[in-house]
Amino acid sequence: MPVFTVKSTAALERAIRLKRQLMAFYSYCLLWAGTFIGVELAAFEPNTPTLALLALIVIINVFFYLLIRTGISEQFRDPSLTIVQMAAGILLTTAILHYSRELRGAMLSIYFMVMTFGVLALDRRRMLLIAAFTQLCFTSLLIYEWFEAPQQAIFSYLVGHWLILALGLGWFIYMGGYIHNLQSRVREQRRRLHEAHNRLSAIAVRDDLTGLYNRRHFLERLEEEMSRANRENNPLHLAIIDLDHFKQVNDTYGHHAGDDVLHRFAQLAAMGLRKSDLLARYGGEEFVVLFPHTSTQACQAAMERLRNRFAQQHYSFSGDLRSKFSAGLTPYQPGESAEEFIKRADRALYQAKDLGRNRIQLAN
Ligand code: GH3
Ligand code: MG
Ligand code: MG
Repeated sequence: MPVFTVKSTAALERAIRLKRQLMAFYSYCLLWAGTFIGVELAAFEPNTPTLALLALIVIINVFFYLLIRTGISEQFRDPSLTIVQMAAGILLTTAILHYSRELRGAMLSIYFMVMTFGVLALDRRRMLLIAAFTQLCFTSLLIYEWFEAPQQAIFSYLVGHWLILALGLGWFIYMGGYIHNLQSRVREQRRRLHEAHNRLSAIAVRDDLTGLYNRRHFLERLEEEMSRANRENNPLHLAIIDLDHFKQVNDTYGHHAGDDVLHRFAQLAAMGLRKSDLLARYGGEEFVVLFPHTSTQACQAAMERLRNRFAQQHYSFSGDLRSKFSAGLTPYQPGESAEEFIKRADRALYQAKDLGRNRIQLAN
């Protein structure tokens, strides 16, 4: 069961990653559309290789999509491959900037669009790294252009663009770090809340003293098992157990001694029964066991085994005490209510007490 849960969350996370990849693809398409329009309006170099750029965009996205889709990306610490994806986006943006002329200033904002993808996923150190990479790419471009066509380069524009990018990236590192920390805190709080919820749910179904399921949980599960038995026509048995002369234990050795006996019974029963049997503390010194998918003989045998082992227990507070129990056992009659089912087991229990205790009484 837990394996199944893990698998389904992994599949869910992969689906989210694929969706994010689609978002990245839309962004790339937008970038390409801007470039295309820029070329049409003659605000870009007329020889801009728009088709090659489009092909590159498709290749980049298909590459990352396949890495995520096949699960290969899950072998990395960040299965979204955020840093590599951002680096690819920055390199492509730098290539496109090379062809921009009048629109260079406006196109610088594309770098910032790429940076937003890192805000949630990357901490400040990694944001700094990717910002440095961006600045390095742009600086390399400016140097390349300076040497390629010095007569076209306008120094004040170069410096202006360089500074605007540096300041903008600085702002991203500052703001991004803040948002990242905020999100980490929210995530941590959610994790703690989840943990507390799990702890509380575990407590809510358990009995404090014995650690067994409590009456409320038992009654809930009883309804489920009854409808399953009705549906699948499988045998279902209920045993109600009551410790014999338990009041005397308390009166003679004290309440703590009584608690010890209850605890010992719970331990023995939990160890001796099958995992599929539902064992619960029903009240003070009363316990219940629900046996799904089990024949009457097998239930009786299990109860007798438990009765024998419990009757042989020794207790630290008294060498002589041999605590015992009586029980009423009954099969479920298809269609009957929980109340009728429990009442019949209870009547069998009282018969067992009447017949001298320390016995399992079967009610048909
Ligand atoms: P019988 O054989 O007829 O069942 O006699 P009994 O003495 O077991 O039955 P009775 O109902 O008279 O006494 C049950 C006792 O169980 C009384 C109560 O104080 C004690 N008891 C119930 N819950 C606890 C508990 O959590 N700890 C302790 N130590 N005693 C408990
Ligand atoms: Mg009782
Ligand atoms: Mg009793």
